Amino acid sequence: MRILLIEDERKIASFIERGLKEEDYCIDVAGDGAKGLFLAEINPYDLIILDIMLPGKDGISICRELRDKKISAPILMLTARDRVHDKVRGLNSGADDYLTKPFAFDELLARVRALLRRRDDTKSPILKVADLELDQLTHKIRRAGREIDLSSKEYALLEYLMIHAHQVVTRTMISEHVWNEDFDSFTNVIDVYINYLRNKVDKGFEKQLIHTLRGTGYILKG
Ligand code: CA
Repeated sequence: MRILLIEDERKIASFIERGLKEEDYCIDVAGDGAKGLFLAEINPYDLIILDIMLPGKDGISICRELRDKKISAPILMLTARDRVHDKVRGLNSGADDYLTKPFAFDELLARVRALLRRRDDTKSPILKVADLELDQLTHKIRRAGREIDLSSKEYALLEYLMIHAHQVVTRTMISEHVWNEDFDSFTNVIDVYINYLRNKVDKGFEKQLIHTLRGTGYILKG
């Protein structure tokens, strides 16, 4: 899951960035609205965290512009405690939820998870393909009942493949949803991580779940 954070205060931005990375989210940070709008237009984010108080254009105008540009990712707004009317303006401008500063990281994480889940409320948090199971809430992975330990990047990649199970997933799709802006598309890093996953998920099993489609990408199927 890839998240865009638009926040000019360095300290808060790095606090959020660090925490979300630890939770296996892939995150890009924009220090102002112009960069945020630019990134949101070129990348398919699953969620946008938008601070209201920004230099230049404020979060409310950014939010309106995002919606005008038909960017439909859920938006979580960060507002100051004493500015109640901002919340109303934020929600009216197209934001999905707001969080008042200062907040504890767990509070932010709960909102983020709720917004990401809301898109697909009826689905269970457990993704299943053949005997492989991934729990999106606890991040536990099991194959044939046996627990598999994955690094944060491996988890993010497997989760993406499982969400799109039985569909062809191209390298571009993977780089856009599992890696952030720093990703260098000329490296073979995706193939390297696919190999790590194969070793952990498929090795020793008769049935291989991760398949390579030469020149196209990958498909996970049972
Ligand atoms: Ca700010």
